[in-house]
Amino acid sequence: MNAKANSIMAGYLGDKKTMIVHHLGNMQKKCDIYHVEKLQKQYFTPDLLKTAIDFGFSPCTWCN
Ligand SMILES: [Zn+2]
Repeated sequence: MNAKANSIMAGYLGDKKTMIVHHLGNMQKKCDIYHVEKLQKQYFTPDLLKTAIDFGFSPCTWCN
């Protein structure tokens, strides 16, 4: 059992297609991020909502 896998997961994931940022720790079924293509995924450094907004992303209504 590899429980550590979850702890290294990113906090925020941006969808470049919709320009919406999701909070992965609080993800909802309605976020539907499983349909986001790999090339459309944007991670942030630092991994904060503010960073995502500075990049031009809008916070997802369901998970932020
Ligand atoms: Zn979301």
